[in-house]
Amino acid sequence: MPRPIQATIHQPALRSNLARVRAAAPDAKVWAVVKANAYGHGIERAFEGLRGADGFALLDLLEAERVRALGWRGPILLLEGVFEARDLELCSRLGLWHAIHSDEQIDMLAAHKTQVPHRVFLKMNSGMNRLGFTPQRYRSAWTRLDALPQVEEISLMTHFSDADGARGIGHQVRVFLEATRDLPGERSLCNSAATLRHAGQSEVRGDWVRPGIAVYGSAPDYPENDAAHWKLQPTMTLATRILGVQQLQAGDTVGYGSSFTADGPTRVGIVACGYADGYPRHCTTGTPVLVEGVRTRLLGRVSMDMIAVDLGPVPQAGFDSEVTMWGRASNGAILSIDEVAQSAGTLGYELMCALAQRVPVVVDED
Ligand SMILES: *Cc1c(COP(=O)(O)O)cnc(C)c1O
Repeated sequence: MPRPIQATIHQPALRSNLARVRAAAPDAKVWAVVKANAYGHGIERAFEGLRGADGFALLDLLEAERVRALGWRGPILLLEGVFEARDLELCSRLGLWHAIHSDEQIDMLAAHKTQVPHRVFLKMNSGMNRLGFTPQRYRSAWTRLDALPQVEEISLMTHFSDADGARGIGHQVRVFLEATRDLPGERSLCNSAATLRHAGQSEVRGDWVRPGIAVYGSAPDYPENDAAHWKLQPTMTLATRILGVQQLQAGDTVGYGSSFTADGPTRVGIVACGYADGYPRHCTTGTPVLVEGVRTRLLGRVSMDMIAVDLGPVPQAGFDSEVTMWGRASNGAILSIDEVAQSAGTLGYELMCALAQRVPVVVDED
């Protein structure tokens, strides 16, 4: 028997979240961002839920090949563009669209021999200071690209640093609009947070939005807003079972380092899930967990293969009871991955992406 832990990918939830994002950006086309193996969900498993998107955006050429292998003939965008000259051959062969963020990438394209001119997304660094041309250098990059026979169409793209927070996007939007005012081409600005919070304004919405995390059911601006606020559904459930029960008395401790001490009689469930499954070791006593769909809490430290949970709120639970680490329990109760991530001082993004290889994954199709 394998360990009882299992992850489930919910295709209907992916579909529903995609519809939510569409509603937030009416008339815009939607790139479903599937980088990092569809945020840990698995590209092949997520694909069926996301095939209603207008295109797939990712970074890794091997992942682009996997999307084509699924039979997707629509747009695929390489968000970081190519890394070396021969990557352009794959772009030509598979019809991949690619970001251009550097002079080196323009040089490679100028030297590339191809029968099929490329669609490129010229990236502006409007203040994030990660990738892209500064506003001052953007126009000359555009002019250079426009003169290349290898280029069929140029779209304009930028990325926000604070779409989820207090600083917001205004300063970057102004820079982008000013520097692109008289340039032709489709525009793409919004990640999930910008799509949900700011895409009501048409100049921010542009022609393409690029949501990732919202499609995977996580609130991009948690804890200011949660997934329920945005009507997003969990797309990944990590579930397991209780494999042992301990009865503690006042003064007894649990687990490594004895970090939890019982202040009275406490029934403790030992759960088959640990940091080697991708559950964050930074979670401490109090982190929410569902046992038989009832909310309770983690006790003490996370071990490699096990955690302990308080069975106080679920006295009927015992050996083999269902435990939901995040996602949806059998009784329909939901534990948001954002809440668990916050307990570990991180984001839902990191937890999804870190689901361990050893966890078996099943797909829920309906
Ligand atoms: C990852 C990424 C996105 C999606 O971001 P989310 O916050 O997950 O919506 C959009 N655009 C670019 C350029 C990205 O790298």
